[in-house]
Order: sequence, then C-alpha cells, then structure tokens
Amino acid sequence: MRYAVVTFGCRVNHADSLAIEEALLARGAEPAGTAQAELVVVNTCSVTAAADQGARQTIRRIARGNPQARIVVTGCFATRAPRELEGLPNVVRVVSNLKKDTLVDDLPAEELTTAERFSDGDGPCGGRGPGLAGRTAFTLRVQTGCEQRCTYCIIPSTRGPGRSRPLDEVAREIHRAVAAGYREIVITGVHLGSYGRDGGAGSLARLVDMLAMWPDDVVFRLGSIEPMDCTAEVIERATSSGRVAPHWHLPLQHGFDDVLRRMARPYTVAQYRQAVEHILALSPGAFIGADVVAGFPGETEAEFQASCAVIERLPLGALHVFPYSDRPGTVASTLPGKVPSALVRERALELRRIGEGKTRSFRAAQVGTQHRALVIDDGTRAVTGNHLTVRLSEPRVRNDWVHVRVEGAEALTGRVLDAGRPQRINVATC
Ligand code: SF4
Repeated sequence: MRYAVVTFGCRVNHADSLAIEEALLARGAEPAGTAQAELVVVNTCSVTAAADQGARQTIRRIARGNPQARIVVTGCFATRAPRELEGLPNVVRVVSNLKKDTLVDDLPAEELTTAERFSDGDGPCGGRGPGLAGRTAFTLRVQTGCEQRCTYCIIPSTRGPGRSRPLDEVAREIHRAVAAGYREIVITGVHLGSYGRDGGAGSLARLVDMLAMWPDDVVFRLGSIEPMDCTAEVIERATSSGRVAPHWHLPLQHGFDDVLRRMARPYTVAQYRQAVEHILALSPGAFIGADVVAGFPGETEAEFQASCAVIERLPLGALHVFPYSDRPGTVASTLPGKVPSALVRERALELRRIGEGKTRSFRAAQVGTQHRALVIDDGTRAVTGNHLTVRLSEPRVRNDWVHVRVEGAEALTGRVLDAGRPQRINVATC
C-alpha cells in the first residue's frame, strides 16, 4: 500500500506524524505523494480558525486530485469537530488525539494488504530504526495533553489531560534513535514543562538529568517550555548537562501583565525576564525564541506599546508572532473588546519587525564564535547548538559533527576548523 502523511501545526504533531509513518513503514507500506497514495493521513491542528480552514481545503484538494484515496483524519481538528470532517470527501475515518498513538494498529483489516496485516513490525530491510530515512534529527514526544487552560487555547479540550511517558520508556526510545545513528534528538511535548506531573514519570528536571547521561556524541534539543515551568532548577541542570543544546523556546505571549492575566498565563513579565537572564548568565550565546500574540481581546494601544517596549529590551533571538483570531470553544473567544482585524494585522507586523531586528542582532553577535555543529542536507550546511544554520566553507559528511567558526552575519558561513578529520558514522538508510 502506498501512503502519504500530511501534517499541520506544531512540533508535537510532526512527532506524532513521524510515529504514524514509522508504523506504516514497519508494515511494509511505501511512501508516495498524495496524488498516488492509497491511504492519506491528514494530521490536523486547530489552534486557529485559519488552521481548520487549511485542513478542510487540503482534504478537498487531495480528494479532487486522487479520487481513489482513502483519507484518515486525526489531530486537534479531528478531535474537536469529528462530525464535520466525516462529511468531507474521501474521509473514511476520523481518529481523535486520544487514539492517535494506535491509529495504524486500529486501521481495519480492509485498509491493509495481507502482507501489511501480518507483518511482524520489521521493515523491508528488517529492524528499521526510529524516525525516517533522510532526517538527521529525531523528534521524540515524551508527553501529551495539557491542564493549563490558557484562555486562547483549545488544546486542553482536544488533547485531554497531561500524560507523560515513563523515564525508562523515554530512555529506551533514545537508545533506539542513537543506535540508528541519530545524533540530534528533539524532546517535545504538548506541555513539556509539566512532564511527570501526572505521576510516576519523574519531572522535567529528572528528565534533563537523564539526558545528561548520554555520551558526548548526542545532543538534545528541548521543545517549547512554558515560562512558569522554566525553573532555576531546570535551567541549571540543562545548562550544566553538556548534552542539552543552548536553544530555548519560551513562549512569552504578551509583554504586559494585565494581558497575561486575561490569557490565564501564570507568570509575570518580570518572572519571564528573570528566566531569560538566568539562561544567558549560565549559557552566554544561547538562542532564546519566544511566541507572542498580537491583538488579544481587550488589548489597548497602551498595552500593546508597553508590550513592544518590553520585548524590544529582552535579549531574544527570534519572535514567532501570532495574530489573534477567535478559536470557538475557548474563553478568549467570549471576551469583550475584540481588536479589529486590520489593527491585529498592523500590530502583528510591528511585532514581526521587532523580531526581525532581534534575529539580525543575534546573528551579528555570533560572528567570530566557534561551535560544534551537525552537518545536514547534502553536506553543505550544518546546524549549531544555538540554532544557527550555516553554509559550510567546505562540504562534509552528512550527520557528522564539525567544528566551525561563524562568519558573515548576512549569509551565515561556517568556516570548517577541523578540516582533514572527517568522521564516518552509521546512519539509518532504509
Ligand atoms: S500551556 Fe496553555 S498554550 Fe500551552 S497547550 Fe496548555 S493551554 Fe495551550
């Protein structure tokens, strides 16, 4: 059977899609484009109305271009509005987030060929490693669900309560990834900072301690950590681990405390700043990215300007700007004082301008610094721990570590410092 997986939304969804693909491959299915695939899995996001619309349009387009395709829809939109999706052309199943992990196992026998049905789980080459061929970073989801209930977010309704994978299970997954040749592992969760709070799995700090025990050959990147979960303990353990990349994603969402309160975000701007400063004190040169929302209901011009002033002063490396749009079913969608959409766009533009300035400054400050970087693509580019993608001064072996000095702030180049010492490693190739 030929399959395609189409993914919308966040890193967690991408990690879920990777697991779905892995399960399909293990059953002998073959990847194909959506126009040729017999089975298409659409993994949806429902963070905004625009995300829903994108999924609807994609499903219709796949059905038009490939009338034989059987479409299985999963993800947050599928969990929130299964009836609506069942009515779309070629959709044969809608699978909620709670059943996403067993989506492939639960496919009815008629959806699979005989070989796929009776496969023992090994791929055509036997003993397929985790993830998919051709990628240098392995994304590992260690947690799903959220109980925080930020007022703009639908996720607690679509993903359910927080559930963490036990530490020993996470360690086993890392073993598999490392054995298959992965040297960068991205640790994600819907609410990663709450890891272990559902009992038994430990805590984010203990998870970081476990990551620190891996050999020098492997680096871990932590997914998004909410500011209230980015405690001094987590920062200190991660920065001293030697294994966790100096790359942080701390969603700020707004730079004004009253707006944070209306968003039900349980931290203040001062606490956020403290976390950022703590990271940079222990790990100078670390990359810190932030999400911010433009035009949250009730946001006044004075609040917006105050937020911009705060963000301007924060030593961030990038901003991910989200123009607010109502998400039916959320508390925020019922709040008064909606900001007109033209003004939301204008504010988003202003925040993006600030973000671009921050990225430029961060890159400029990195010129002259030296890093160990992982070679990606066709061997001509590499990624540093602090999230810089540099074009190499000379090609190297893909998935190899290389030492580089950063040059040229506009188009970042990595001058290779350990020329003549190429290292070969095994990479999962089938
Ligand atoms: S922490 Fe807030 S924004 Fe993040 S998933 Fe939970 S409710 Fe949504």
